Amino acid sequence: MMVADSMPCVPMLSVQPKGKQKGCAGCNRKIKDRYLLKALDKYWHEDCLKCACCDCRLGEVGSTLYTKANLILCRRDYLRLFGTTGNCAACSKLIPAFEMVMRARDNVYHLDCFACQLCNQRFCVGDKFFLKNNMILCQMDYEEGQLNGTFESQVQ
Ligand SMILES: [Zn+2]
Ligand SMILES: [Zn+2]
Ligand SMILES: [Zn+2]
Ligand SMILES: [Zn+2]
Repeated sequence: MMVADSMPCVPMLSVQPKGKQKGCAGCNRKIKDRYLLKALDKYWHEDCLKCACCDCRLGEVGSTLYTKANLILCRRDYLRLFGTTGNCAACSKLIPAFEMVMRARDNVYHLDCFACQLCNQRFCVGDKFFLKNNMILCQMDYEEGQLNGTFESQVQ
């Protein structure tokens, strides 16, 4: 899992400890409920631990909490904002999760990087492209390579 480095903890539903009531880090009021959430070394009402983006409750069973830059986020929003899709197979830079990508087999590409790697021709929807030795090729370059015996004969 590639976001593991910024995934500090999972909200923990726990029973209010005996003695002094804890204050909620969300609304600053005392937590009088029997159950409270403990996350990021703070205590929260079940209703107060919410995603900063979509307001969904993070205390629900099975949900995971992500934090980054002082934001508390649900998994979906975290990935949308900070996650990555993977590395572009052409330029090998990271592709942020919110960016549009092109996919060919197991590879992902920046939209800008998805071009024939020999002649730089871009592809339109419906255009034929070939993937050879992990290179994207236009039909012309592919066929030329076939003729010259550059590639083994195996069409995508
Ligand atoms: Zn609260
Ligand atoms: Zn959210
Ligand atoms: Zn790229
Ligand atoms: Zn080409």
